[in-house]
Amino acid sequence: MTDILRRLREPPFGTETSERNLMAAAAAEISKLRALTAEARRAIGDHFAPDDCYATGPMTGDAYRDLVECPACSFIQQYEATAIHREKL
Ligand SMILES: [Zn+2]
Repeated sequence: MTDILRRLREPPFGTETSERNLMAAAAAEISKLRALTAEARRAIGDHFAPDDCYATGPMTGDAYRDLVECPACSFIQQYEATAIHREKL
């Protein structure tokens, strides 16, 4: 599958200017999100469950998310489940 950024930056012939502008803005946002998630993953670094796990304490009002779910494990699981880290920034 072709990278989504390339598809947004190289729209097919006949694409209207307003659509091209919107696609370019979307590509820029996706690029920023990729950089952000790469930095978040770098900030977490090595994380070995359960020894490195932690709870945030009351933040969301959801007892599971506040007291049980490790935010680092949750982030890493979502990060690995997406293709965002496999594509170019
Ligand atoms: Zn953890």
